[in-house]
Amino acid sequence: MKIICIGRNYARHIEELQNERPEEPVIFIKPDTALVPKGNPLFLPDFSNNVHYETELVLKIGRTGKAIPPHKAREYYRSIGLGLDITARDLQKKLKEKGLPWEKAKAFDFSAVVSREFIPVSDFKDINNIDFSLQINGKTVQEGSSSRMLWKFDELVSYISRFFTLRVGDLIFTGTPEGVGRLERDMILEGFIGDKSMFKIRVK
Ligand code: MN
Repeated sequence: MKIICIGRNYARHIEELQNERPEEPVIFIKPDTALVPKGNPLFLPDFSNNVHYETELVLKIGRTGKAIPPHKAREYYRSIGLGLDITARDLQKKLKEKGLPWEKAKAFDFSAVVSREFIPVSDFKDINNIDFSLQINGKTVQEGSSSRMLWKFDELVSYISRFFTLRVGDLIFTGTPEGVGRLERDMILEGFIGDKSMFKIRVK
């Protein structure tokens, strides 16, 4: 399986990192070795001094597809979870400045936390209005809603599938809202969709 991530999908996060607003979705991929195994803590890598959390809604692909039109996209993801796109921000800044690919800063081992549970799409009243949040040590640090995404789920699935065949089990990280920040050892991160706790993980 692969993890496809969308960058710059929330206006206020684009502003906080002083990035340009893209004309098309920004895409990068993490390999399956990026996944933190279930039950493991989040180990910080030794090659960065500024590792950030980014809390994101995650689509799980339930059907193989390529060149999926937007109006058919809903048939290809059946459930939605929550994840953390862990980013070595210092390294990413260097790579960006040089116009180099982001992989070392974004796709390293244990750079993807994903909730154990995924919620069926049919359980949501409106998937384009899903609230989610991240607490660190019990304090809310990020709050987002899928209503504020620049590109909605169906548009993302359609766009991605023009370039990459989507397979059953692939995950799509749909971008982070504002409020990203630095991770420190011993922080406890807990992610929520609405009031429902989706993951709880300690930083090591
Ligand atoms: Mn991200």
